[in-house]
Amino acid sequence: MLMGLMQHQPLLVSSILRHAARHHAEGEVVSRRDDATLARTSYAALERRARRLANALLALGARPGERVGTLAMNSDRHLELYYAVMGTGAVCNTINPRLAHGDIAYIADHAEDGILFADPAFAPIVAAVAPKLAKTLRTVVILCAEPDMPDLPLPAGMTLHCYETLLAGHNEDYAWPAFDENAACGLCYTSGTTGRPKGVLFSHRATVLHAMTMAMGDVTGLRATDRVLPVVPMFHVNAWGLPFAAPMIGAALVLPGRHLDPDSIISLLDGERVTISGGVPTVWLGVLAKLRERGARFATLQRLMSGGSAVPRALMAEYAKLGVTISHAWGMTESSPVATWNSPKPSTLALDAEARLDEQATQGRAVFGIDVRAENEAGETPWDGRTQGNLVFRGHWVASGYYRMPETSVGDDGWFPTGDVGVFSPAGYVVLTDRTKDLIKSGGEWISSIAIENIAIAHPEVAEAAAIAVADPKWGERPLLIVVPRPDCTPTPESLRAFYKDKVPGWSIPDRVIIAESLPHGATGKILKTELRKRYAG
Ligand code: AMP
Repeated sequence: MLMGLMQHQPLLVSSILRHAARHHAEGEVVSRRDDATLARTSYAALERRARRLANALLALGARPGERVGTLAMNSDRHLELYYAVMGTGAVCNTINPRLAHGDIAYIADHAEDGILFADPAFAPIVAAVAPKLAKTLRTVVILCAEPDMPDLPLPAGMTLHCYETLLAGHNEDYAWPAFDENAACGLCYTSGTTGRPKGVLFSHRATVLHAMTMAMGDVTGLRATDRVLPVVPMFHVNAWGLPFAAPMIGAALVLPGRHLDPDSIISLLDGERVTISGGVPTVWLGVLAKLRERGARFATLQRLMSGGSAVPRALMAEYAKLGVTISHAWGMTESSPVATWNSPKPSTLALDAEARLDEQATQGRAVFGIDVRAENEAGETPWDGRTQGNLVFRGHWVASGYYRMPETSVGDDGWFPTGDVGVFSPAGYVVLTDRTKDLIKSGGEWISSIAIENIAIAHPEVAEAAAIAVADPKWGERPLLIVVPRPDCTPTPESLRAFYKDKVPGWSIPDRVIIAESLPHGATGKILKTELRKRYAG
C-alpha cells in the first residue's frame, strides 16, 4: 500500500444508517400503520432496533449471502429489515405482493429465501405459497405485534414468529461488520419477456454509490431539512433508492404503508410537511384530480420525482401551477434504478417556457456513474433528436446479468440492453420512443404480453392472438388484445375478456379486444408487433 494514500473503507449499506444514527439522530421516520395511525421514530432509535433485528436474524440462522424475503409495504419495520438484513451481510429479497401467487412462489424458490418477513395483510399470500417453498423456507416472521398476529397455517417444519416478540427477545449488542463492498445486499425480481421474473442482484457498493448520486443537487437535491415520502413501493427497486438517500442526507422519511389512495397520500403529504415525494405518474394523476376536486393546494410539497413510465407533459404543467416541479427520471430495476434524470442545463435557460416544458418532459440526461447511448445497425446514433436506437447503458449500478442466469451476462464492461428505444436530443436528453421488450406497463406494474397471448390462444375459438401496449391517460399503458378467430368461430370481445377471469390479476385483463381477420407476420413467421403498434396503438 502506498504510504499516505487515502484510506480505504468498503462502501457498505450499514454505513448509511450508522451515519444517520450518529449525525442525524433526531432525523424522523414516520410510518402509517394498517389502522391509519402514525408511528414515529428516529434514525438513532431505528438503528438500535436494526441491531436487535440483526441479532434475531443470526439466531434464526441467517448467514452472509443468504437470501431473506420480504412481502411488505413501505414502513419503519421494512426499513429496519433492509438495514439489518443487508448490514449482517445477508441479501434482502423484496418480493412484489401484487404478483400472482405462482410468480411469488417462483421468486422465493429461485432466490432460495430461508426466512420470509411479511406484513399481516399478506398472510394469505404466505399461506398459499409456503407449501411450495418447503425446500428452503424454514421461518416466517409477521411484521406486527402479538395482538395483530394472523392465523397462519404453515407446513410442518416451518416456524412462525411475531416480529415484535422476536425483537423483544434480543438485545442491541451488535457491531455492524465490515466486509467486501462487492458483496450482494439486495435481490429484486423484474418481469421477463418470457413471463418468468428475473433477479437483479444489487451490491453494497452499487447501492451506496447510487444513493450518493440520487442525493446530488441536479438529481433529488435532498437536504437534511427535506421530508421525503416514497410512494413508490420498497419492493420496486428499493423504492428507487430513497430509503438509502434520505438517511444519508439526514432527511426525514415518511412511509405510507398500505394507504396509497389519493386522499391518504394528500393527508400524509400535508400533515407530515413533506417536501419531496416519488411515485409513478398514475399516482400523481390521481392526487391531482383529488386536489382539483377540493380546489386545494399542497401545504409544503415542492418537488416530485416520477418515472417508471412516461410522465405526461400536461401533468408537469399542472403541477407547476401548484408550485411543484416534477423531475422525470428513467431507469429500470437493472440500473438500481436511476440512469437518467431531468434537470435543466445552461442551454435550457435560453429556451422559452414551452420549449422548456418540452425538454422537461423528456426522460432526462445521464447522471454521473452511468453512461447511456442509443445504437442502431450503424453503431451509436447521433444526438440529433431524430435518429432512433436501442438504448443500452453501463455503469457503477448496472447489473452485469441476471441472478443465476449466466446466459444473460454482459460482464463488467458490456453495455446492458434496456429493451427501450429512444433518441438523444442535441443537448443530451433521452426521449423514449418505443420498447422492444414484450411487456406492457400499467400503473407501474408489468403485464407480460406473452402471458396475455397464451391465455387467448387457449380459448377454443381463437387461432392467433397478439397483445400490445396502448397509451392510456390514467395508467400510462393498457393491454390491447388482437385476436384472429378459428374458422367458423365468432368469439366476442366480452367472452374473451371473461375467459381471463381468475387466470390473471384483474388489472392484467385487456380492456379492449379487437377481432381481426389476420395478423402481420415477418419473414420468420413472427408476429410484427411494430406493425400492430403502428396500426392500433393510437
Ligand atoms: P422496472 O424495471 O420495473 O423499473 O421498469 C423499467 C422500465 O420501465 C424501463 O425499461 C422502461 O421501459 C419503463 N420506464 C421507466 N422509466 C420510464 C420513463 N421515465 N418513461 C417511460 N418509460 C419508463
